[in-house]
Amino acid sequence: MFRSINFVRQFAGVCFSEASTVAGISPRVREFREKLSENVGKNMLNDSFGRHHNYLRISLTERCNLRCRYCMPAEGVKLTPRDGILTTDEIIQIADLFVKEGVEKIRLTGGEPTVRKDLVDIIAQLKQLDGLKSIAITTNGLTLIRQLPSLQRAGLDSLNISLDTLKEKRFEQFTRRRGWARVIAAIDLAVQLEFNPVKVNCVVMRGFNDDELVDFVNFTKDKPIDVRFIEYMPFSGNEWKENKMVSYDEMVTIIRKKHPEFQKISDKPNDTSKAFKVPGFQGQVGFITSMSQNFCSSCNRLRITADGNLKVCLFEGKGEVSLRDAIRSGASEDDLKKLISDTVLKKKKQHAGMINLSHMENRPMILIAPVRRIQCNNKKSKNKKTKSQRKLKIERQNNLYINNLTKKMHNNKTIKLERHFQEFRIASRKYSTLSHVDETGKASMVDVGSKEITKRVAKARGFICVGKTIGKLIAENSMKKGDVLGIAQLAGIMAAKKTSDLIPLCHPLSLNYVNVSLKLNDNLEGVDIFSEVRCTGQTGVEMEALTAVSVAALTIYDMCKAAGPPDTMKISGVQLVSKSGGKRDFMREDFSGES
Ligand code: SAM
Ligand code: SF4
Repeated sequence: MFRSINFVRQFAGVCFSEASTVAGISPRVREFREKLSENVGKNMLNDSFGRHHNYLRISLTERCNLRCRYCMPAEGVKLTPRDGILTTDEIIQIADLFVKEGVEKIRLTGGEPTVRKDLVDIIAQLKQLDGLKSIAITTNGLTLIRQLPSLQRAGLDSLNISLDTLKEKRFEQFTRRRGWARVIAAIDLAVQLEFNPVKVNCVVMRGFNDDELVDFVNFTKDKPIDVRFIEYMPFSGNEWKENKMVSYDEMVTIIRKKHPEFQKISDKPNDTSKAFKVPGFQGQVGFITSMSQNFCSSCNRLRITADGNLKVCLFEGKGEVSLRDAIRSGASEDDLKKLISDTVLKKKKQHAGMINLSHMENRPMILIAPVRRIQCNNKKSKNKKTKSQRKLKIERQNNLYINNLTKKMHNNKTIKLERHFQEFRIASRKYSTLSHVDETGKASMVDVGSKEITKRVAKARGFICVGKTIGKLIAENSMKKGDVLGIAQLAGIMAAKKTSDLIPLCHPLSLNYVNVSLKLNDNLEGVDIFSEVRCTGQTGVEMEALTAVSVAALTIYDMCKAAGPPDTMKISGVQLVSKSGGKRDFMREDFSGES
């Protein structure tokens, strides 16, 4: 057949426009046109203009923890009732079908996808789909510092973090919420975790942040990030006005006044953004020109809304069809394929044009729209519970059990109940991946099952010498890689929770509390690190406390190593300073008990 559908589509785009300028159609153009028309309808992802859609965006939720002015009104949007939102199983079922038919990239979006509690699970399950090459997420980054490591472990390949201003106060005006520092820390963490590039989405609005274009370009100087300026688009409720929109051409002109060498670089295949760079800068810049230059002719995207509608164009509300309703009425895979194919075939050649769209009724992905309801012949009984409903019921029962038990523990702190609780926690951790072997391959983990359940506390400390130059940079929070002490603190806390994954014979524990504190010493030459870890259990938490200090120190080392001579950096004095709750309490003589 032909080399790849993408290749054909791109090639055809060029040939067709060439063809329209000449009287006859060349044999080459005719041949490609014929191939494209052969292609139509053969695969549910092909539309009637020969476009193959191998990129699926799935909105996981309509909820959001911000209220960005350009996206939604201050009071938020009317939400679909919870049972109308796709469940984890339904999302995976839909994704699986699309991937089997040729979708290679899935982006999770919203609303704010990170507010969904099953996000890690969804990513882990998507990762299992054969043929899926990339899982991405678009997020406002507000809660990412807590979640990113587990998202990455689950299989997240790339991420876009939205940030529209580099000024903290302005962030609050834009989003009607606080959290700028957390988003900045999330960008730093993403760089640390080597997502490359980390994309930063910035919607540009005249009179709001158009004075920060150059600052954003400068933001790419020392970081491998890709700042993408997005032209402000009209959606219902976002008070779009033409004069608030700053076009791509205008943005480039503004940036070139400060950086005349700002130059176009090559775009990746299927990129909707136009890539630019200031020579010598580590990162780059892109422009998403949805308003001034649409990319309908090469559009390869389909969207699933949080309530399960297939949307073939972001700006086409009428063409939506409910895959959720089809699934819930027992549609077979073939039924679903037919439904999807019919909808994709109705995709228009291009949308109405942005200025026209601003006068039409439209919705962002998070708003509800009237939908064509689907009836399928092979309906399942309404009373019969689906697998996901049964799973939900079990989860609810478990939660109820934990809640009741916790309540009872508060009222009546008997050892018996604590043991009960502990047993439940141990049982729920049965899928731990610990290898539990010694160097001969023989299992030799200590059986703590008969030990008494007590409250355990361990404290540890350590020190990292960084030298005066780096110490000053840390104090001013101007290290290139970001907020050293903030990130080291998080790294320490996360590491404590992962101790049993790192130290082979260490028991997995459910921790009640982890604190890591870091202080630059008075002469700014090093950082004192303290940790405190608590749990209620049958074994101590010394290893967790020591791991927290060690990993916090290593994180500082990693973030600072490029900024000074290697011989100045030295980690020392990692030690346990106190422990209690076991057979023997312990406290170092030189430790006052204060950390
Ligand atoms: N909550 C997530 C976030 O903000 O990244 C994901 C959902 S949000 C709808 C996806 C992207 O759309 C964000 O980068 C956001 O900046 C952008 N966006 C929202 N409203 C827009 C508008 N009116 N014009 C242009 N981009 C917009
Ligand atoms: Fe929320 Fe994203 Fe919309 Fe902002 S752009 S309100 S973060 S969904």
